[in-house]
Amino acid sequence: MEEASGTSRPQDIRPPEDACCAGCGGVLGDQWVSYRQDPDNREGLLQDFSQVVQWETRQGQRGAALAGTFKGFSRATRDDGPRAFRDPDDLGLFFHPTCAPKLKLTERMQHDLASILADSLVADMKKNPEKYANRASGGNAEVSTAPESAKPMVKLEWQRFSKLTEARSRFAKTPCVYIQADSQGCPIRIGKATEGLEARYRGGTGYAIDAAMHGSGNLVFVAVVERDLCACVEDELIWQGRRCLTYNNQGKRIVPVRRVLLSHSGSPPMLNEFDAAIGGQEAGP
Ligand SMILES: [Zn+2]
Repeated sequence: MEEASGTSRPQDIRPPEDACCAGCGGVLGDQWVSYRQDPDNREGLLQDFSQVVQWETRQGQRGAALAGTFKGFSRATRDDGPRAFRDPDDLGLFFHPTCAPKLKLTERMQHDLASILADSLVADMKKNPEKYANRASGGNAEVSTAPESAKPMVKLEWQRFSKLTEARSRFAKTPCVYIQADSQGCPIRIGKATEGLEARYRGGTGYAIDAAMHGSGNLVFVAVVERDLCACVEDELIWQGRRCLTYNNQGKRIVPVRRVLLSHSGSPPMLNEFDAAIGGQEAGP
């Protein structure tokens, strides 16, 4: 693959052993930023960086340490940086990414930045496939951007409950996804139970949740899902509901690797804050 314009492979630029951040004085880790003069452009600076890029799969987070050089910074400091850039004193120093003075990007660079990062991630995947070998999706390492038509459709027939233990008896051993919702039926948390709700909320745990919900009017919605699809349906629901799911911590920042189309029927929760709902949007408690 072609090297993205504006980047180069790391040229052995790395902080010395035991280097400290020039901003806060703390020890530098895997992630750092450093500026130097662009040899091709007296007005511009290069930013050398090493960072750990995180993304999420169905089974948890993965990350890759990337290093490279961005080209196209002006010498002007951005207002939102932790402090002003001191030219030339700051050249060649190393900073934590959060402590580094932020420089203005030239206009062209602003357009290119996201694609440069994506390109370096894909390049790293091709260069070091073993790092990515355990990914849940198995197959190709590139971030999926499957067209809408290629997404499998999963039908969710929702049932509504006012107690978790009622939902648990109905879906004791049935693989399912479930939505905990407020009294308006607006989702606040999504979960999956590949072995059914009995295994997920065994014994007293179910009653503890009933007690926590007591008098709140909060609701639980459950839909049967094939066991193998539970994880990607859960991921898809969390992604689509990322703006309102207060109690999901993971899966709201990065689009799922494996997308599915969801259709809703039965007694679904309120999905009007979700990205895409097919059918059943009117239903509520
Ligand atoms: Zn620092």
